[in-house]
Amino acid sequence: MTAKIIDGKAFAGTVRERAGAATAVLMDKHGLKPGLAVVLVGEDPASQVYVRNKAKQTVELGMTSVKHELPDDTPQADLIALVNSLNDDPTIHGILVQMPLPAHMDENEVVNTIDPDKDVDGLTAISAGRLVLGQDGLVPCTPSGMLLLCKDVLGDLTGLNALVIGRSILVGKPVAQLLLAENCTVTIAHSRTKDLPALCRQADILVAAVGRERMVKGDWIKPGATIMDVGINRIPAPERGEGKTRLVGDVDFDEAVNVAAAITPVPGGIGPMTIACLLRNTVIAACRQAGVDVPTELDG
Ligand code: NDP
Repeated sequence: MTAKIIDGKAFAGTVRERAGAATAVLMDKHGLKPGLAVVLVGEDPASQVYVRNKAKQTVELGMTSVKHELPDDTPQADLIALVNSLNDDPTIHGILVQMPLPAHMDENEVVNTIDPDKDVDGLTAISAGRLVLGQDGLVPCTPSGMLLLCKDVLGDLTGLNALVIGRSILVGKPVAQLLLAENCTVTIAHSRTKDLPALCRQADILVAAVGRERMVKGDWIKPGATIMDVGINRIPAPERGEGKTRLVGDVDFDEAVNVAAAITPVPGGIGPMTIACLLRNTVIAACRQAGVDVPTELDG
């Protein structure tokens, strides 16, 4: 068997188009322009690239993009004051504080200052609680992207055995909750799990969110399974030249592709879905705050 390679880049484009179309409807029918504020503290080059990309894509879809860049030594109280002012700003519907924050800050405290209705990253305790309780809330972007891709491939997930490797707050736990809400039978594995290969072999859907390069081997995979590889690992790539690197996932792609029915590549799988889902969340947040229905253009 050769697995279908799931094109996350193309699907992320579709999600962005839907968010753009929904934005146009909101403007047209309700005069509502979704607004996303991104806050960056410090000069981490990777974070600067992420923030720039987010701002660019937000504007491209016709939304308002506001960027706040604060110096590394900003007192936490100043950051919290900024977040509170964004909470009170009616033109801003989504707030994202780019992680990681400088060491002198308490990330938990800062994140939980964000109004949960504007928490487009889905990281506040209230958003996590809403997800567990099955209430309307904002879902973390990477898990949300994983689910959209998975449903695009498989349709109805009811009754499927899903194994989630990883139990982080950012990925593993919300992924497990989302799959449970889709009526999967969900198992969560982590660093203390015994006989991970045996658990993997029972999984119709295998989500790897660990951060260990090519850990999941081909002979761990149930023939015909769908593999969602969230892991992003940089490894040396001397074949590309001295000192060069490349990205690989948590799943050994070259082996898995011969066993699975469908697999997300790294890069180009789950990764591109994250920003697309951030924009999608911003549209949803704007609709809820304005008390209008989410345009059907966003569906899918
Ligand atoms: P964390 O480091 O927070 O969590 C890793 C999880 O993997 C932990 O729950 C840990 O278990 C578990 N784990 C570690 N070693 C093993 C092992 N040998 N067997 C089974 N489980 C193990 O990482 P994140 O969840 O934040 O990220 C996971 C991966 O996803 C990373 O590669 C990251 O780069 C990538 N990622 C990709 C994103 C994207 O595509 N946009 C966004 C976010 C993350 P324990 O809890 O017991 O320690």
